[in-house]
Amino acid sequence: SKRWSLQGSTALVTGGTKGIGHAIVEELCALGATVHTCSRNEAELNKCLQEWEKMKFNVTGSVCDISCRAERHKLMDKVSATFQGKLNILVNNAGAALYKPVVDLTAEDYTFIMTTNFESAFHLSQLSHPLLKASGNGSVILISSIAGRVALPGLTIYSASKGAMDQLTRNLACEWAKDTIRTNCIAPGYIKTPLAQTKLDDEDFVVKENSRIPLGYMGEPNDVAPIVAFLCMSGASYINGQIIYVDGGRTVNS
Ligand code: NDP
Repeated sequence: SKRWSLQGSTALVTGGTKGIGHAIVEELCALGATVHTCSRNEAELNKCLQEWEKMKFNVTGSVCDISCRAERHKLMDKVSATFQGKLNILVNNAGAALYKPVVDLTAEDYTFIMTTNFESAFHLSQLSHPLLKASGNGSVILISSIAGRVALPGLTIYSASKGAMDQLTRNLACEWAKDTIRTNCIAPGYIKTPLAQTKLDDEDFVVKENSRIPLGYMGEPNDVAPIVAFLCMSGASYINGQIIYVDGGRTVNS
């Protein structure tokens, strides 16, 4: 039925060439959406776009470093032109992680993580507002992390950037509801992606971490992508301002 479809919807998914973003692009397309995505690496982006074309998915893409304000403006101009000024779904997915004790964090570390994760989500949401409003049915999705809620070792500045995304979710949910824009957030636990690879290669870490997850294992990008799709559907039309933890129960375990 129409409730379980994204037919006719348009979406911008940042960071669609790898990991969670790649799975989100494919999930939204499979449900009928038309998607624009971006990444910094042109060759990888073109490879993905070619594969999606073969799969008959409607995806376009831009090379864009979302940590750069001017590039965010260019990206949104492209999205507006591609989708005739209307956007149903913005997924703020692209992000970076950094493991360092607080005493070793530099000014550059701080700026890199805060601009890539938080400022990009904040500004792209701002820039998308007229398009989301014009669509008559808008959804902003932020990809946060369990690190926004629990203190994971070495991830302080990353966690702060995610905590800021969590609160941005609540404020946008209240401020933009009148424009028929809902805002929700997904906070994954450890998911098997290139971003988490150094941790996944550490066997001791994986054994210890898995023992703290009630389900006993780490997630896959495809454990996250369907939740994004659901939150954008009319079946979720009364969900607004929520943080959905997709973590195998990790954050509720004592
Ligand atoms: P990956 O590193 O696997 O993929 C990130 C994607 O974003 C790539 O397509 C990458 O392409 C793109 N990207 C990264 N930086 C930028 C940038 N500055 N501008 C444009 N595109 C960029 O990450 P994940 O899929 O693991 O992570 C996605 C989101 O999920 C992040 O926000 C992350 O914090 C969050 N998350 C991940 C968890 C995990 O365990 N994996 C757990 C909890 C949350 P390119 O490098 O070519 O630009």
